[in-house]
Amino acid sequence: MNIGIDAGGTLTKIVLDAPSGRVFYKRNSEEYRKLIEELNRDYPDANYFVTGGKSALFAAELTGNVKTLEEFDATFTGLKRILKEADINIDRFVYLNVGTGTSIHVAEDDAQKRIGGSGVGGGTFIGLSQLLVGESDFDTLVRLSAEGNRDHVDLKVKHIYGDEEPPIPGDLTASNFAYVLNDTSNITDADKVQAVAGLIAETVMTIGLTIGATRDMKNIVLIGSTLTNNDVMHEISHRYGQMLGANTYIVEQGEFSGALGAIYV
Ligand code: ATP
Ligand code: MG
Repeated sequence: MNIGIDAGGTLTKIVLDAPSGRVFYKRNSEEYRKLIEELNRDYPDANYFVTGGKSALFAAELTGNVKTLEEFDATFTGLKRILKEADINIDRFVYLNVGTGTSIHVAEDDAQKRIGGSGVGGGTFIGLSQLLVGESDFDTLVRLSAEGNRDHVDLKVKHIYGDEEPPIPGDLTASNFAYVLNDTSNITDADKVQAVAGLIAETVMTIGLTIGATRDMKNIVLIGSTLTNNDVMHEISHRYGQMLGANTYIVEQGEFSGALGAIYV
């Protein structure tokens, strides 16, 4: 059996690639010892393909046959497979891996190039929300954000232009969180968390769109566990991309690109 492991800053993604089909699951990276014990017990002779910032922890302690792979190539290999299997046929695109932080890449001529990174990512979603509303559980925050309205928090272009016709869509955010300076009376915790989701989604989309504009690429692909079942962030990203003329793809199980790709690099 081949097992791919992407040990990230927050979550470890595991893909069991069995002939009967693939099994995908995730664990908190802090609990790596327990996971290694389980894998050594259940699959002592497996072929392990490990990648990600914390891969060395696994490479040292797994008893099977272990190979360590570079994270960016593994992720690109996995992403290509996932896109193909989802029948998404694009070959030139910008992709952003919105993990704990965000990694920015361009795909072209069947190769990827890492353009850079941003500290605005899934860790920001949790950390900033913890500061603002005292909650850091990801699923709870995702649920809470869906009940909010970030119009109470964010300043839009139309707020600045008033009765004048703006040269860009009035619904675009002019300044995340700046509406707070006009009126704080109606802001709920849900509004705040939705605004945090907006800040992250719009920031990473802006990075993607800006990189894309310099290369005439209209396809933006978002992966990473920050997007997992995160309807609010999906919606904001799609809407933002649409307003600015991009095609936004958020692929199902895209967060497993690294773990899957490690097996096939
Ligand atoms: P990096 O690639 O930056 O090293 P990573 O690979 O651990 O980090 P991902 O797994 O892609 O990153 O995404 C981590 C983010 O996913 C978290 O910051 C959080 O916003 C979100 N997330 C989704 N599910 C969970 C969960 N069960 N527990 C914690 N965070 C979660
Ligand atoms: Mg990662």
